[in-house]
Amino acid sequence: MSSSLATVSYIGATILFILSLGGLSNPETSRRGNLYGIIGMTIAVLATVFGPRVTAAGIPWIVGAMVVGGSIGLYAARTVQMTQMPELVALMHSLVGLAACLVGFASYVDTSIVLTGAEKTIHEIEIYVGILIGAVTFSGSVIAFGKLSGKIGGKPLLLPARHWINLLGLLVVIWYGREFVQAHDMASGIVPLIVMTVISLLFGIHMVMAIGGADMPVVVSMLNSYSGWAAAATGFMLSNDLLIVTGALVGSSGAILSYIMCRAMNRNFISVIAGGFGTGGGAPAAKADGQPAGEVTPISAVETAELLREAKNVIIVPGYGMAVAQAQHTVFEITRHLREKGVNVRFGIHPVAGRMPGHMNVLLAEAKVPYDIVLEMDEINEDFPDTDVSMVIGANDIVNPAAQDDPTSPIAGMPVLEVWKAKTSIVMKRSMASGYAGVDNPLFYKENNRMLFGDAKKMLDEVLSALKS
Ligand code: NDP
Repeated sequence: MSSSLATVSYIGATILFILSLGGLSNPETSRRGNLYGIIGMTIAVLATVFGPRVTAAGIPWIVGAMVVGGSIGLYAARTVQMTQMPELVALMHSLVGLAACLVGFASYVDTSIVLTGAEKTIHEIEIYVGILIGAVTFSGSVIAFGKLSGKIGGKPLLLPARHWINLLGLLVVIWYGREFVQAHDMASGIVPLIVMTVISLLFGIHMVMAIGGADMPVVVSMLNSYSGWAAAATGFMLSNDLLIVTGALVGSSGAILSYIMCRAMNRNFISVIAGGFGTGGGAPAAKADGQPAGEVTPISAVETAELLREAKNVIIVPGYGMAVAQAQHTVFEITRHLREKGVNVRFGIHPVAGRMPGHMNVLLAEAKVPYDIVLEMDEINEDFPDTDVSMVIGANDIVNPAAQDDPTSPIAGMPVLEVWKAKTSIVMKRSMASGYAGVDNPLFYKENNRMLFGDAKKMLDEVLSALKS
């Protein structure tokens, strides 16, 4: 393939990636967006493999690597549970970071690249910065994987003088950067490079370990952004324009997502990075003295069905538990049944519900819930006082009134869905355990709140059959 054809293909792929991102911003166009992305990526891979920079001798290596990587990817995509998607995404981000590090070291030790003067300095800065971003992305994403999969607790690790430790690390990295660029030969340059890599790896671990459970959504989108910049850095090291452009697209869209997540949680980015918001996850909700925090009123599935049947307005608030129980299809059946009976059923979606951006929208779209009754938190929060029943399905942190009422709460200031303002709120969950942020939820003890204990899918099946009988 001639270099001009490769360039044209790269431009075509870039346009398709931009169209893909545009399509993915809306559930109605997301399938098309995905298709654009797949076509763009196919063109990009073909143009690279058959492009002017790959020799015939390299092709078997590339094909071999693609078969191995593609098989692992295919296996992972086919076997992963929907609830494991956030962990899988974190793991994928870590691979982008690892690739940037490996490409960085490879291009430093590659003796076929002979550069002098300013060109050499620029190339070395690209390598240094590329490995730095790659290493932070790699280790940070591995820890995020651990936290999202529950292998590492959600409690923030707050080392004494942690900001000073980070600052010291930064100064050492800058110092060694100077040493690296000034090194006369590879032997004296490799030591600063390795020291910086180790510090960056430790920084990535420390940064994500210090993040409390409640801030994880921002960290997920931030690592998404980092993985984009790591890819862009790889593009600079390899002088590959397409990689630079796509890396920048991922990097900037991840940064915008981080901003949206910060705004959704009423947090600023710096305090997120500083860490400590939210505690460990999954602990039983109890006061410090171990006593239950109040009386709760349980409700049965049959009583729930009665309340729903008599209601005019219902708002359903899904959360992570709906994903765990895979209850979205039953939720849709109940919604369809109630709507046929003339009940106005709508959904309230919190921006950080579930474990990844858009998690609930994806599940509801999969169950074919009409988009026009799925509303964002800002669009629906004012309607709770005029609502007969608000039904919380496996959600906890996103409906916690302590965020508004208790300034000492670890999630104080985070906007929440005000389900307790409805005439009756029903919380569907298996126990009194807390949510991801690990904080007690006073909603459960409110006078107009009822608890429907049990697995969301099982309870909703019972509610549906009671509604139909
Ligand atoms: P939460 O984690 O706060 O609560 C989920 C609740 O679901 C739990 O309290 C659990 O209670 C219940 N549950 C679990 N399994 C089932 C089941 N099978 N049936 C019924 N209930 C079940 O989830 P939310 O969606 O309310 O909030 C999201 C949290 O995750 C926020 O803290 C957010 O910051 C964080 N987060 C979000 C990310 C994102 O991008 N959206 C990324 C990372 C973190 P029980 O065990 O008693 O059943």
